[in-house]
Amino acid sequence: MNGIKHHISDDLLMGYAAGALPQAFDLVVATHVSLSDDARARLAGFEELGGVVLSDMEEADLAEDSLERTLARIAGTPVREKRVEPSRGIFPEPLRKIVGGDEDAVKWRSLGTGARQSLLHIEDGVSARLLYIPAGQAMPEHGHRGMELTLVLKGAYRDETDRFARGDVEFADEDMDHTPIAEDGEDCICLVATDQRLRFKGLLPRIAQPFIGI
Ligand code: ZN
Repeated sequence: MNGIKHHISDDLLMGYAAGALPQAFDLVVATHVSLSDDARARLAGFEELGGVVLSDMEEADLAEDSLERTLARIAGTPVREKRVEPSRGIFPEPLRKIVGGDEDAVKWRSLGTGARQSLLHIEDGVSARLLYIPAGQAMPEHGHRGMELTLVLKGAYRDETDRFARGDVEFADEDMDHTPIAEDGEDCICLVATDQRLRFKGLLPRIAQPFIGI
């Protein structure tokens, strides 16, 4: 897809290629990759590199699972292979699989004032969710205790740093506070992975936080 302005970082792509990311972040990266030719090309490079490293390691040091790996090689089955199909529709394939369909299959929960979310996955405090922000509306200003990776699927939003539209990713961490605001004209849907609960600044969102699980 053309027009992507905010790309995923090399370290996240490498982590993805190595299978080292938590599942929630894995989902966001896979979904971004299926929207971005640039990310697909870089990922292919890292996977090639990973394969070389893996075969070197196997020769140097026979790991416990080396028999399994060797048998897999003899059988011609790749030990680890991630293929991401180019996308069709609003939800690319990796996300469509989790949701069980496209936008109309999402089970939304209201966050009040028109905003909605759908929790897709949570494990050890690491979560992936879909966020729905009505056109022209703001998400509460918040800081981050850990990492937050946001991918825009529909519409666009702006925050203190820039404008983010379909296919764009934004990475935030402890050092960043921001208030994403959906652009006028179209509701915004984002896929967000966070590795800690967000730290909201306003009193009301903080009280609501345990209930909405954001
Ligand atoms: Zn944030």
